[in-house]
Formats: sequence, structure tokens, C-alpha cells
Amino acid sequence: MSILFSPAQIGKLELRNHLVMTPMHLGYSLNGEVNDQLIEFYRARARGGVGLIIIGGCGIDRIGNAFGMIQLDDERYIPGLRQLVDAVHAGGAKIVPQLYQAGRYAHPALTGKPSVAPSPIASKLTGQTPEELTEEKIQEIIASFVKAAIIAQKAEFDGVEIIASAGYLISQFLSPVTNQRKDRYGGDLEARMTFGLEVVEAVRKAVGPDYPMIVRVAGNDFVPGSNTNSESRAFCQALEKAGVNALNVTGGWHETQVPQLTMNVPPGTYTYLAYGIKQAVSIPVIACNRINSPELAESILEEGLADFVGMARPLLADPDLPNKGKSGQSDRIRPCIGCNQGCLDNIFRLKPVSCLVNAEAGREFEHGPIGQSVDRQQILVVGAGCAGMEFARVASLRGHKVTIWEESGEAGGQLALAAAPPERQDFLYFRNYLVNACRELGVTIHYNIKATPETILSAVQNGEFERVVIATGARPITPSIKITEGVKVLQAWDVLLGREKTGRNVVIVGGGAVGVDTALLLAKAGTLNSDTLRFLMEQQAETDQELHQLLTRGTKKITVLEMAKGIGRDIGASTRWSMLADLKRHKVNCLDKHTVLEIHPDGVLVECSNDNTQKVIPADTVVLAIGSRSENELYNALQDKLEKISIIGDAAKPRKVLDAIHEAYSEGIK
Ligand code: SF4
Repeated sequence: MSILFSPAQIGKLELRNHLVMTPMHLGYSLNGEVNDQLIEFYRARARGGVGLIIIGGCGIDRIGNAFGMIQLDDERYIPGLRQLVDAVHAGGAKIVPQLYQAGRYAHPALTGKPSVAPSPIASKLTGQTPEELTEEKIQEIIASFVKAAIIAQKAEFDGVEIIASAGYLISQFLSPVTNQRKDRYGGDLEARMTFGLEVVEAVRKAVGPDYPMIVRVAGNDFVPGSNTNSESRAFCQALEKAGVNALNVTGGWHETQVPQLTMNVPPGTYTYLAYGIKQAVSIPVIACNRINSPELAESILEEGLADFVGMARPLLADPDLPNKGKSGQSDRIRPCIGCNQGCLDNIFRLKPVSCLVNAEAGREFEHGPIGQSVDRQQILVVGAGCAGMEFARVASLRGHKVTIWEESGEAGGQLALAAAPPERQDFLYFRNYLVNACRELGVTIHYNIKATPETILSAVQNGEFERVVIATGARPITPSIKITEGVKVLQAWDVLLGREKTGRNVVIVGGGAVGVDTALLLAKAGTLNSDTLRFLMEQQAETDQELHQLLTRGTKKITVLEMAKGIGRDIGASTRWSMLADLKRHKVNCLDKHTVLEIHPDGVLVECSNDNTQKVIPADTVVLAIGSRSENELYNALQDKLEKISIIGDAAKPRKVLDAIHEAYSEGIK
């Protein structure tokens, strides 16, 4: 019997299972109101079988909120909030809002007011220095938390969550790094806990003894000099005494240099933080961060590491994950791959959240479940890359009969390339999902077929197909640089896919995402693998310092050359910083503003655009990663000959996987 899908309780709140949708900023609200986009988004998640949905953060005031948030600072929002609550209840889930005050993480450019904090210490996120809160202002903020909780109660939410993690206001009070006050709110840990506890106590008093209250805490701030799991345990014990019913344990602050949510974080990594808290309290503890499958969730509960499991992005990727997991259909779950391209990266760009793997996320209000077309067609798709397969999946759901011709021996196209570097294999999980989904829907994929204009025309004229979709992807560009015989020059795609081997001294030309991926793949060659590391650590065979050296010092010397300013500029903000840090850790020599003039047997002749100086960078192998161009010859040859022909994905224009998937979805649903 599954623990995950058995009934559960938080305080007096009864839940159908142990799966919690943890809050994620969506950016869907206009002017703080609940709208159809939000209602249908959460209705789909409730129908999908999750036990509890925590929405938000929700602004408690106008100095600590963020763009696109639901607001809980005025009773005029109650009718809309109640509609949202009703929609979630109708789906069988319970719902609570997260009460949010960002403190110094609030951006004055967005709120129109100076941000506030326990002490005037500049925010690494916004670059702004907040105003120090007076005692009077502190009381006003506590009153705002109380008012928001009462509004939540009036809107018939099933409880509230208060955020005391991620580097927001309450965690700023908790941390000695951001709280240098000399009054009763600053000083030792007990004093620094005062503000958070006063918020909780005031809310408890206002909502009554039985109204469920959850607090989200950082299991470790992962900020030098700030709180660790030990201080967090003490805070959680005090929260339990103050009447909190459950603790939602996440990882570090937004400004931490330890990745929390990127693809290279192994699934379930931060569960140990929840377990640390669980050992110190007797109320339920929710574990989260990169827990992305029912199987992993079940094992966490089985091992007693936590009482509930929280997922946010996995339910953005597949709202039906709980129902699929419960009915033994985990292989049908569309996996969150930790790419952040549609979710966190959009938030950093102040755009509403979407999802790379789920083009419907945030668009549930535009139409209901995909319906069957009245005009069912036989469709030929050329290319089984991500765009071709996503189109085939959606068109099949519309009732069309889809056949794919794939030139190579396997499906996936760019997804295989994206999955090649270490710690990026999640892209393969998405490829596998698309292949399985196509198979289940009856899409026929023919491999090793070279489509030509003649074979396509003939098939259409014979009545095999009524419509043709070209999804032939892209191919790498070869630059017009002078290359002297004798040096090994390879395409990055061939290196990433293991089709070609480099020497020990490698220069990569092109510092975009593909160049960075290639550099990291090569830089990690010859480093310790995880099994060896575990063995050596368990045996205490080497010092920590030596192990770190062995982990980060490979056998190759790598240089990345980029003509423009900056390396990895096409990588999303949520991931780029950690990849650049990885390059640094692995001693990859990154040179931006360097133009390649010539490749000759000794290496690469470059010119620096800062001072026009030229030098030769020695290399035995040069890897080209300067971009790609569309494979659109078939489309160009056929567009005037066929009435129903379209082109999608990189074949139309090389872009990110997210763009290819969303375009394919839109074409498929027509
Ligand atoms: Fe997961 Fe990527 Fe979708 Fe975000 S965009 S939910 S990280 S798959």
C-alpha cells in the first residue's frame, strides 16, 4: 500500500494523500486579482490528484510583493479568491495561500516604493539597499500578515502558509548576515527569531486555534555566515510551540551559490534538510526541491525522511502526475527536467510562467482537453526530433493518423544533444516520454528513411498523406575561417554525441550554450566518478581538499573562445551562473571578445577586440560551436507543390527546445 497516496492530515486538515503542490510564482495575476488563467491552472492540478495546493506567494502588502502576484491585502479580492478555492475543492484537493513579504528582495522598480529589511544591507538580488524597519513599521507588517490570514480565512481557504525561507523578510530577520539590529529583534538566534515568531503568534491568535498553519523554512540558507540546519531546527521547535501545524522545508536563499533547482541537482538531494528538521519536531514535515517522481516521493516517505512530499515544477510539467502515479502509470508522466527555461527563467524576465515540456501550462483557460478534429487527416511528419514528435503527439490526440519518417536510427534530435553533457540526462527522460506517448497514440515512426521531395510528392499523390509537416531540425554551421591542414577540427555536435574524440589540448570556438556544454563535458573527462568519490569518502582515504581537486581537475586543457562579450549568454539566468561557476571550478580558460583569425597546426590565431592584439592559443583539437542553420531544403523544394505543408521547430528557425515544443504544439492543435 502506497504511503504517498494514502489519506493524510495536517492539524485538523484532512487530505486525500501525502502529496503537496508547493508554491511557485506564476506571474498570472493582473492587479492582484484571481482570474480565469489562475483558476483553470489550479483546477487542472486539483483534478490531477494532488492532496494539497499551496498557491503563491501572495502579497500581504505593496512594499514586499512581486509582479503578477495574487494579493491578500484587501477584502475586495475575496470573491475571486473564493472562486479559486471552489475550483480546487471541486477537484478534490485542499488549498492554502502562502503569505509573502520579500523584504529586501522586493524590487523598488516594481513596487514603486523602497524595500524594507531588518538592517540596511544591500540585496544581492536587486542591488538595492533597503530601508531599516522601525519597530512601528515592524508592527505594521505583522498586522499585514494578520489581515492577509483573515482574508484567506474569509475566502474559505483551508489554512495558510507563511514564508520564512528563501531569503525573504522573515529569513532576513533570522540571519546574522542580514539582521544586525541592536534592539529586541536582533542579536543572538533567539532574538533573531522574534519577528518570525511574532508573525506566527499574531496570525494564530487571529485565525483561531484550529486553522491550519504551515511555515516554509530554509533547511539551510547556504549563505556563508548565515543559518544552517542546526539554527533552522531551533526555529522550527519554537514554531511548533507557537502553534504551527506543519513545516515545509526547502533549501537555500535565492542568492546562494549552491544550486538548488537546476538540472545538475540530483533528484531528492535536499531531503536530508527536511529529515534534520523532522528529527527535532513532532509536527509533519514536507520535503521538497527536485523531487520529481512518485517513486522517489514514496521512497522518501517509506524511509521516514519526511511526512509529506512537495512538488511544484513536476505538477507544472504534468498536472496528472498524482493520478498517473497512483494508477501505476508512472511511465506516462511527462517529466519535469529541471531546465527552468519556461518557469524560473520567465520569472527572471518578468514574464508569466510556462513550461518547456508542457505547452499547455498556463494556457488551460484557452481551451478544455484536446478534442478530436472533424477533419481527420493522414499526416506525414519528416523528422522525429522534439518538434516532430510533439506535433505528432498532439495531432494524434486530435484524431489524425500520423506517420513520421526519421532519417537516423533514433528519435530525439536535439534532445540527445542537449542530454550529452554530464548531469543533463533529464533531457532524455523527455525524449523517452515523447517516444512512448507517440507509440501509445498509434504514431508510426519509420527510422533510417531519407525523405526526398520525390518520395514525399509520390506518397502524397498516391493518397498516403494529405498533409506534410517538415521538422527536419538544423545542422551545425561551418565557419569561413582559414584552416590549415594538419589540425583536428571537429563539430561540437559530434563531440557531444561521442562520434568524435578530441586530444588533450582543446580550443572550443563559440561560447554559447553548445560551446559551454562541450567545454564542461571535456573538462570533466578523467575526474572522479560518484561511486569512486563515495568509496573514498566513506573510507576517509583522502583529504576533502584532495577530493575536491580530483573532482574538478580533468585530463584535458580547455579554452573557450567567444567573439562577443560574455560567455553563455543564450543560457537562461537561472542556470547560467551555475554553469559559469562550473567552468571556473574546472579551470576552463574562457576568453570572450576574441575573434578567431586562423586555425593552423599549432593552434588558433585570435585577436582580442579590446586592444587588437593577436596571439596563438596552442591546441591539438579545435571544436566548432558557432551555431546552426535550418535544414529547410525539403520545405523549400515542396512549398509550391503541396497545398498542405508546414515547417516547424529548428527547421523553421534554430531556437531553444522550448520554442520548438510550443510551436509544434500550436501547429498540432490546429
Ligand atoms: Fe520543469 Fe523545465 Fe517545465 Fe520548469 S520549464 S517545470 S524546469 S520542465
